[in-house]
Amino acid sequence: MKIIMLGAPGAGKGTQAKKIAAKYDIPHISTGDIFRANIKNGTELGKKAKTYMDQGLLVPDELVVDLVVDRVNQDDCEKGYVLDGFPRTIPQAESLDAALAKLGQKMDYAIDVDVPDQVIVNRMGGRRACVGCGATYHLVYAPVKNEGICDTCGKELILRDDDKPETVQKRLNVYHEQTQPLIDYYTKAGILKTIDGTVDMNDVFKAIVDILGE
Ligand code: ADP
Ligand code: AMP
Repeated sequence: MKIIMLGAPGAGKGTQAKKIAAKYDIPHISTGDIFRANIKNGTELGKKAKTYMDQGLLVPDELVVDLVVDRVNQDDCEKGYVLDGFPRTIPQAESLDAALAKLGQKMDYAIDVDVPDQVIVNRMGGRRACVGCGATYHLVYAPVKNEGICDTCGKELILRDDDKPETVQKRLNVYHEQTQPLIDYYTKAGILKTIDGTVDMNDVFKAIVDILGE
């Protein structure tokens, strides 16, 4: 089962991708997580990506595509995978399709988690990320047991630089200009499924399971 999560930044793609990965036992591949890990480790890729991420811009396609194509060719992806945050542009989607076509494969589902901009702005201000393991929480909707401390690894939680209000609006603009056209792209490919992302996260997941099957 090969799945793409579509949706604005903060729509809940990561939250749902983790649940999908656990239920269907497939890898969760988040390009944002891969870039943040590279930044933390001080790699060349991380240094390049950071300059774009800090401004709320997309990292150039050529820095993203090979990374994902290499990742989905690894053995643990044989049964499928859930892509979170990729593709984010039409050229990325075309490159992914071309790479899969060479292997005689194609994506099965593109799930669009639909959330209006105003709800996104409220959500992003409350998102907290762990500096250690990258786990994501929300001050109101997904609180931790001990304030400011990650439930999973005990490290500190922070507001991501790119979740600060001035950058969120920029990221939403970038989403509408560069990523939203993928909704049309995957509608034409016949694999788009749109779900309401404004409801409780467990109900969002139920809607996804209805689509993917038990
Ligand atoms: P994305 O991966 O699309 O950027 P996340 O999964 O990180 O988004 O979710 C953004 C923030 O909103 C997080 O703090 C998360 O805990 C919270 N969140 C996710 N889904 C919901 C939901 N259905 N209702 C309320 N808050 C949610
Ligand atoms: P995310 O965690 O998915 O919200 O991604 C955080 C940031 O990483 C984005 O705002 C982009 O700067 C960058 N990024 C992640 N995935 C991609 C992608 N597929 N293409 C370009 N930039 C990306």
